[in-house]
Amino acid sequence: MTKADSATARRGSAKRKPLARSSTPSTTCAAPEVPYGVPGVTKASADKLMRLGITRGFDLVLHLPLRYDDETRIYPISDAPSAQDVLVQGRVVEADVKYRPRRQLVCHIEDGSGVLTLRFFNFYPSQVKQLAPGTLVRAFGEIRQGFFGPEMVHPRCKSAAEGSAVAKALTPVYPTTAGLGQDALRRVVTHALAHCDLADTLPESITAGLGLPRFRAAIVFLHNPPPGVSQEDLRERVHPAWRRVKFDELLAQQLSMRVHYRRRKAADAPALRPKRKLTRRLLELLPFALTAAQLKALSEVERDLRQPHPMQRLLQGDVGSGKTIVAALAALQAVENGGQVAIMAPTEILAEQHYRKFSAWLTELGITVTWLAGGLRKADKQHAVAAMASGATQIGVGTHALFQEEVKFQKLVLAIIDEQHRFGVHQRLALRLKGTRANTVVQPHQLMMSATPIPRTLAMSYYADLDVSVIDELPPGRTPVATRLVSDARRQEVIHRVRDACMSGSQAYWVCPLIEESETLQLKTALETYESARAAFPELKIGLVHGRLKAEEKAAVMAAFQRGDIHLLVATTVIEVGVDVPNATLMIIEHAERMGLSQLHQLRGRVGRGASASTCILLFQNPLTPTARERLKIIYEHHDGFEVARHDLRLRGPGEMLGARQSGLPMLRFADLNADLDLLEAARVVAEQLLRDDPDAAQAHLARWLGGKHELLKV
Ligand code: ADP
Ligand code: MG
Repeated sequence: MTKADSATARRGSAKRKPLARSSTPSTTCAAPEVPYGVPGVTKASADKLMRLGITRGFDLVLHLPLRYDDETRIYPISDAPSAQDVLVQGRVVEADVKYRPRRQLVCHIEDGSGVLTLRFFNFYPSQVKQLAPGTLVRAFGEIRQGFFGPEMVHPRCKSAAEGSAVAKALTPVYPTTAGLGQDALRRVVTHALAHCDLADTLPESITAGLGLPRFRAAIVFLHNPPPGVSQEDLRERVHPAWRRVKFDELLAQQLSMRVHYRRRKAADAPALRPKRKLTRRLLELLPFALTAAQLKALSEVERDLRQPHPMQRLLQGDVGSGKTIVAALAALQAVENGGQVAIMAPTEILAEQHYRKFSAWLTELGITVTWLAGGLRKADKQHAVAAMASGATQIGVGTHALFQEEVKFQKLVLAIIDEQHRFGVHQRLALRLKGTRANTVVQPHQLMMSATPIPRTLAMSYYADLDVSVIDELPPGRTPVATRLVSDARRQEVIHRVRDACMSGSQAYWVCPLIEESETLQLKTALETYESARAAFPELKIGLVHGRLKAEEKAAVMAAFQRGDIHLLVATTVIEVGVDVPNATLMIIEHAERMGLSQLHQLRGRVGRGASASTCILLFQNPLTPTARERLKIIYEHHDGFEVARHDLRLRGPGEMLGARQSGLPMLRFADLNADLDLLEAARVVAEQLLRDDPDAAQAHLARWLGGKHELLKV
């Protein structure tokens, strides 16, 4: 996919709110009784524009060309460059409808330098008349060498008056949709450019300081570039006019994120002073000392919790870096202040594991930890709900069941969300509201954890509304996981490996292929793998875990694996996140070529958690697609989660990587986080500066770029 194609795709699929005229800010165009405030837009074309994601006049201004046709000069037929569209002019020598080899209109034109054949396979009878011999015509298209000399197939063709002027600017070609022709689109865009307010939202000192043109100049340039500009610079979007648009877009994103950040910082939350009694006791009970990175993250969390404003902190750390204990210590700080804590994980297996860990760590300190998940029996669930509502329990652990309506906390002061990228903005909001009691606006603090490291550019852009702590160090004594790529043809060797590992006292995972189209099929493969493993390893104890098992069955299998009662665990990707069994040293992943980078990295992170050397075997099936090959190469070469994530961002783009978070965020259409890092950094600085010194400009900029979408970011 070229950049231009993906731009169309992105625009085409972008979800937009329908045109809301009442709330359109001052930057929209005049004359609200006309669709889009732009004369020339009919009702019919308005519907089609909507399909392009264009919902207000200003969106037309920002509907930028995919590419350009150069009709600014006329080439001699004999001397026109090949492999590009060119404009030629000549007199018609003859024009005839031919029937062999297929029906077509064939026209020869002549310009003194040579003769050119024009061929039309679709044509109106009237076209034949328009091409009467002697007529002067201009044809635009690519010249190819045909059997009878140079020819143009389906040129854009118009009759021309002798000596009439050529286009003064390159002709824009816009992303469009069925039924909306380029001419119609050009007309409405031209209207929009004439009617919309293109005044700059930024002072000259800022744009000049960054070497960027003024907004109007940049926009006018991009819609109608003068002859002679480098099409290459336009295509690659490195021309200063493009850079200005990208900068403005990034600035809008930064402003929006910072506005929400500030708004949240202004809200009230319980200030939790660290008392350190319980935390010190827990630290004494632990069989290990915290790493320097864990201590640093913890002190950042402690500092936030002490503030009377809600914390919104993302705790990032590679798989196995030890985020859970940091969360537990934060929870203690909340409990010491008489508050309750909710801990939420995206899967039942992971939530269950947190429940066990937190119970093991905290019940000794006299703290009650309660489990709440969808699969609980009714009586148990009621009991758990009552314990949270009465304050009898200090810590509630569970899945999204914690979001449910009937779950109320007596005094929720901290919400801990593991693998935050799995949750949508709306779910997090629901949990936040649980802390809101009648007549108060006190919000709980939020600590989010993610083992899918967020590349720096994403953290700086889409996550700029959060504070981020990074655990950038693994606990000591870990040996890196050796990664092996093994073709499916060598499965027998893998089977030997599994037996050897398990017989020598280790444990192993065997992860079944991901089958996205069908959960039933996935289940079937899991069962088959389980059966063939049992046949291949009669001497081993083998367990099976998959998404269809009941919660307590899943929990029982996981507990047995944890205790070492199971040697080999056959699993679907349900074990992808968070599972922690240090004695497991071998991970087999079937059909690794089907899995995404972050998933592979997560799965690999399930081993290498203890002191002994671990191996991750990626079984793959030939032939590999180029992307699959590249993914396997990356996971083979890189062990650092941040590096893997950086490549993931490059391969998939931010949209998919952001997952659930994306649904609440306006996506970047023009800026490219990989290519435009300098603009992103500049936008960060300018956003702070504007919010401090020139809030009106900040407001105008946000209104221009985000319109009503700004509100979506409130969470
Ligand atoms: P993750 O960051 O992937 O959630 P966990 O919190 O599950 O990682 O920690 C991985 C393992 O490392 C756990 O068994 C945990 O008890 C252990 N661990 C955490 N911190 C340390 C440390 N400082 N030293 C040794 N082991 C640690
Ligand atoms: Mg974890």
